[in-house]
Amino acid sequence: MDYQSILNIIQREFQPEPNLGKVAAYIPELSKVDPMKFGMYLYCHDDSAFEFGDSQEKFSIQSISKVFTLTIAKEVMGDELWKRVDVEPSGTPFNSLTELEREHGIPRNPFINAGSIVIADSLLSVLEDPKNDLLKFVRKLCDDDNINYDESVARSERKHGYRNKALVNYMKALGNIKNDTEDILDFYFHQCSIAMTCGQLARAFMLFANEGKHFRTGEIVIAPQSVKRINSIMQTCGFYDEAGEFSYRVGLPGKSGVGGGIVAVHPKRYSVAVWSPMLNPKGNSALGMKALEELTTLTGLSIF
Ligand code: GLN
Repeated sequence: MDYQSILNIIQREFQPEPNLGKVAAYIPELSKVDPMKFGMYLYCHDDSAFEFGDSQEKFSIQSISKVFTLTIAKEVMGDELWKRVDVEPSGTPFNSLTELEREHGIPRNPFINAGSIVIADSLLSVLEDPKNDLLKFVRKLCDDDNINYDESVARSERKHGYRNKALVNYMKALGNIKNDTEDILDFYFHQCSIAMTCGQLARAFMLFANEGKHFRTGEIVIAPQSVKRINSIMQTCGFYDEAGEFSYRVGLPGKSGVGGGIVAVHPKRYSVAVWSPMLNPKGNSALGMKALEELTTLTGLSIF
């Protein structure tokens, strides 16, 4: 498969233009990003890699971090975890509050904000040094120590994250939050602030394209069974109320973030990350979705 030619076609066909969407502004620090950025990086099972554009520039991974925290929580807590968060698609926006009351404070899945906040709370209960442990885990996955929290993004979200504050407080009132709400939000805002490149993300997500093995060392980091489960949740819940649309158009498990990044995996073949900060109304990268749809169309490869 000539992936580089396919990426070159995508780069030529899809140019960033201002009317594609809007950069996230509800976290003021994120609105400073150049909307015209566009990069893509594809890492293959045989260690070859293909890229274009701003694939080596760091951006805020935001909700993509929810896959990393879920992976650690699943490893440490096993199926206990599912007592506090479900695995059903939500059909509502990522920061929605509406279902929580009806569903007694049990979030629909680990990728909406409420679900990831419960995961953050559970990690606070079991990890010695949660912020440090998370960073160590992500650095290990992509074999790269040059990955850090962006303190200005974390601070900006802390100052303006009213909906997340509402979610954690509401779940606390309903008994599904154990730790101090400020500590949980501090961890959650930091996990979302991690800055990574498309190259780093694609390498980290090889875990999910490689049956739980580290892309470089071959070490078994998580069991293939966990990969099956996490990929399933990405497929059904990775894009909130646009999960069906992403699944239909791209046909791969994936996860987006409001920083404009999307990562997707084709198990046993490749992991791919794309970045374009202009978001569609559902909070997913508009150009990123188009690029990935074109990738799976032009390769003609499918997991189905
Ligand atoms: N930090 C963001 C929030 O909690 C993450 C949302 C996202 O990327 N969809 O609102």
